[in-house]
Amino acid sequence: MTTQELIAASNKYLANTYARFPLVLVRGHGVRLWDTDGKEYLDCVGGIAVDALGHCHPKMVEAIRAQAETLLHVSNLYHIEPQIRLAQLLCEQSFADRAFFCNSGAEANEAAIKLARKYAKDHWSSDRVDIITMHHAFHGRTLATVTATGNPKYQHGFEPLLPGFKHVPYDNLRAVERAIDSRTCAVLVEPVQGEGGVNVPAADYLPGLRRLCDEAGILLILDEVQSGMGRTGKLFAYQHWGVEPDILTLAKALAGGIPMGAMLAREDVAASFVPGTHASTFGGTPFVSAVALAVVTTMLADDLPGNAARVGKYFLDRLRGLQATHPSITAVRGKGLILGVEVAVPARGIVAACMERGLLVLTAGDNVVRFVPPLILTEADVDRAVAILEAAFGSAT
Ligand SMILES: *Cc1c(COP(=O)(O)O)cnc(C)c1O
Repeated sequence: MTTQELIAASNKYLANTYARFPLVLVRGHGVRLWDTDGKEYLDCVGGIAVDALGHCHPKMVEAIRAQAETLLHVSNLYHIEPQIRLAQLLCEQSFADRAFFCNSGAEANEAAIKLARKYAKDHWSSDRVDIITMHHAFHGRTLATVTATGNPKYQHGFEPLLPGFKHVPYDNLRAVERAIDSRTCAVLVEPVQGEGGVNVPAADYLPGLRRLCDEAGILLILDEVQSGMGRTGKLFAYQHWGVEPDILTLAKALAGGIPMGAMLAREDVAASFVPGTHASTFGGTPFVSAVALAVVTTMLADDLPGNAARVGKYFLDRLRGLQATHPSITAVRGKGLILGVEVAVPARGIVAACMERGLLVLTAGDNVVRFVPPLILTEADVDRAVAILEAAFGSAT
C-alpha cells in the first residue's frame, strides 16, 4: 500500500478516537524515526513519555529476543522470576515494599483507587471513600480514572461518572485542606502534571500534601505514570521533594514501549490486598517483566535520570532563550525532560510546522507545546530541536 492508501485505510477501519497527523512511521533508532518516504525525524515525543531508552535500544532488543525464546506467559497462578526481580528492584529503589503489576497507567490508578478504598474500609469506617484529585489532572480513560481526571472534556457524554471524587485546583494547599472531611480516604495527584500543561508545583506543595494527609490520617497517592522512571531527573519524581507517598503508580516508560503498569505501596497499605481482591491476567508476564527489568537496569547503569536532569536543564535554558526573542511564547516550564512551551497561538499549528521540518513534538492542552523525548537525548539533539522550533515559530506566527 502507498502512504496515501494506508492513511485512507486507517481513517476507514480504525475507531475514530485520534486526530492523527498524516504520517506513517515505520522505523526507529535512538532518538530518530523514519516515515514511509524515508524522511527522518528527531523524536521529542518518545511515544508520549514511553520510549525512555529511545527506539530499538540494544539492551531491550536483547531482552525481548532472549525472553521470547524462553517463556512469554504463564499466569500469576505461579511465581514468575523476572516479575519477582523487577518488584525487588523497584522496591529497593523506592519507598515501597510491594508491587502490583498491570498493563497501563489507567489500570495502575484503578488499582490505587481500589486499594485506597479497601484500606479505608479495613481501618476506618465504610463511608470513607472520597478521593481528592486536581483540576487539569490526567489519570486515564477508564470510568474510575476518567472521573478522577480533572477535565470535563474527557468526561462529557460518559455520565453517570463514578461517585466519590472531589476536584480542587492544582498547586493549592488551602483548597485541599478545605476539601478534606470525614469521608476522605486519599489524595491522588501528579507530582508534575503532564497532559494538563506541564505544570510543576511550588516547592512546598508535595511536602504540604504529605503533612495534610498525615494530619487527617489519609493516604497520599502519587500518579507518576508520566513523570516517573527518570523523566524529571530522578528515578521517581517524588524524590525531588524529600517526601514519600503511600501509593505510587507507574506505566508509560516502565517497560520502554512494551505495555506495563505498576502500583507500588508501603507494606501496611499493600496489606489490604489479599488473594482474590485484585488481579490482572496479563499483569507482569515473564515477557513484559523481563523487558522492564532490562529497561530499569539500563536506566540505572547509564544514569539516565542524571542525563535527563543535565540535558533537561540545557533544554529549558535554550527554550527560555527562545522566549526572550519570541513574544508568542508566554511561558516556559518543566523539570528534567518533561518540558512545556506555552504559546499565544494554537499549539497544534506549531506541532505541525515542526513535523514538516523533521521534529516531532506534541501538545498538552490547546496552548502548550510539550517535549517528552527519550532520556538518552543529547545537547546536540537539543540544539537541533530548538533550531527547528525557532523556524517553526517563524512560519506559524
Ligand atoms: C498517560 C497517563 C495515564 C494513563 O495511562 P494509560 O496507559 O494511557 O492508561 C495516567 N496518568 C498520567 C499522569 C498519564 O500521563
